[in-house]
Amino acid sequence: MVEDCIFCRIAKGEIPCDKIWEDENFFAILDINPYVRGHVIVVPRLHARWVWDSDDDEYVRYMLAVKKVVGFLRRALNTECVQEFIVGAEVAHAHVHLLPRIEGDGLPEVLHEPMRVKPSEKEMKEIFEKIKLVVD
Ligand SMILES: [Zn+2]
Repeated sequence: MVEDCIFCRIAKGEIPCDKIWEDENFFAILDINPYVRGHVIVVPRLHARWVWDSDDDEYVRYMLAVKKVVGFLRRALNTECVQEFIVGAEVAHAHVHLLPRIEGDGLPEVLHEPMRVKPSEKEMKEIFEKIKLVVD
């Protein structure tokens, strides 16, 4: 529990929210600033800064919880397409966004944009080498 963390406070029941699902480790709520109707975030009860901070077992449990919520959204909103994204900048407590997409919902099909200034071939090679050093 982090005192000034809004998701910790929601987990503790201190802040009202539209909780659509929960179990002992995770909960799913409607995002209060939705991108589309049915925009949900899935949040671990225990504070972690990043989704990637959890150990392997916890991460698998997290992704299974996300998958379960996706199933609810697909059935409830009669859509096959639920987009998932992780940003981590708005609230410093791990969370996964789920956007059930419905034709004509007003968002572009692809939410990301490529870099405005495309990296040079040299820069692409440098970043490739930098990552490969860690992988290999
Ligand atoms: Zn927190």
